[in-house]
Amino acid sequence: MAIPTTLNIKYTCGHTQGTDLSHIPAGRRKAHAYGLAKNKDCTKCFAKKNEAGRQQWLQQRNAQTLAEAEVFEQTHELAPVEGSEKQIPWATRVRYELLKAAMDSSAVSETTYNNSILPAARTIVKASWWITNSDTAAEDVEEIVTTAPVTEHIETENPF
Ligand SMILES: [Zn+2]
Repeated sequence: MAIPTTLNIKYTCGHTQGTDLSHIPAGRRKAHAYGLAKNKDCTKCFAKKNEAGRQQWLQQRNAQTLAEAEVFEQTHELAPVEGSEKQIPWATRVRYELLKAAMDSSAVSETTYNNSILPAARTIVKASWWITNSDTAAEDVEEIVTTAPVTEHIETENPF
């Protein structure tokens, strides 16, 4: 009788899953299954935990970038962006990442950055504009910020 290649394993998460162990030599299959049952979650729970970990990592990274973006906003005398509660942190990050990319790019001179990009960027406070243009390449940042539509200022809400 053939030795089964698929074993039902009860994983540490409590789920039982038929597991293909055909890649494990028959003589070691039971021991391998025992090891999996003792140490591993089923594939669904493993994927779920991985996804949760990934989301958490993304959130942490976004929070970190936002903190950097807020410092950048102050040191570069940029006005706070205007938009919805969800758009503001997003656009603040995007603006920081775009300007930082332009600043660090060898294709953009310091003069261009200081005399063209930065002054133009200061006039763009619309969060949605930054979000829409978030995938702009560093060398194209000057062109998009200097050709952006002029934002009409709402005097009562925006002191700038
Ligand atoms: Zn499970």
